[in-house]
Amino acid sequence: MYYIDPHIHMVSRTTDDYETLAKMGCVALSEPAFWAGFDRGTVHGFRDYFRQLTEVEPRRAAQYGIQHYTWLCINAKEAENVALSREVIAMIPEFLDRPNVLGIGEIGLNKNTKNEATVFLEHVELAVQHQQQILIHTPHLEDKYQGTRMILDMLCDDSRIDRSRVLVDHVEEHTIRYVLDEGFWAGMTLYPITKCTPQRAADMIEQYGPERLMVNSAGDWGPSKPTAVPDLILEMRRRGHRESLIRRVVYENPLTFFRQSGRFQFTPPGVAEEAAMSEKS
Ligand SMILES: [Zn+2]
Repeated sequence: MYYIDPHIHMVSRTTDDYETLAKMGCVALSEPAFWAGFDRGTVHGFRDYFRQLTEVEPRRAAQYGIQHYTWLCINAKEAENVALSREVIAMIPEFLDRPNVLGIGEIGLNKNTKNEATVFLEHVELAVQHQQQILIHTPHLEDKYQGTRMILDMLCDDSRIDRSRVLVDHVEEHTIRYVLDEGFWAGMTLYPITKCTPQRAADMIEQYGPERLMVNSAGDWGPSKPTAVPDLILEMRRRGHRESLIRRVVYENPLTFFRQSGRFQFTPPGVAEEAAMSEKS
């Protein structure tokens, strides 16, 4: 089955991982800007990172037939430095018209601090000014419930935000309902330590249905598994779910969400080939 991973940090993965993802059916992915395993010291470090996300990774992915998209921001882990964050936010527009940029993300909260909230709101303002979609990171473990509520409150207070163009990631059993009820998209992150297992994700799909729901692997600098989405596909098959339901969550939903960005020019595998064949006949 073809699938799309809507949240995976390929800068932290090897080229062999790209090959494995391709063999497992991954045809496109999106990589939000995040932490690089260390705190960067200057705006120049972020400019180089954004070049990596918009120039280098698309080429690495294309070698294996995978289409690479990205989101730009300074992440919540580094947002405690408000002065640096403002320099990065001011620089982001240089990259917004690159062909693989889908929007602003992953912005959000890490420890739910005042500085993080300030930088979050300034990113939201940037997204609104430039009509960008938004991808949100919610905090982990004991900070998740409160942080998710804070994020939803900030977003719901702003009537300019089109909720159907916002994806709130890393939802779990105790936060998913609030995200979906408010009209946002929700992403479940399959992760070996914190976050969610394929079994728990399958439970939530059974409970809430596939509407506005996606799954991703994160595949970041922590212990993570870049092939976690195929694990969910297998778990859903084991439980006897229809292929159409599985495909909706792992392929059609990301397509629907990403297509709201004018820059998402995805061609499903085989479509160009079939068009060429029918022209010949
Ligand atoms: Zn992430």
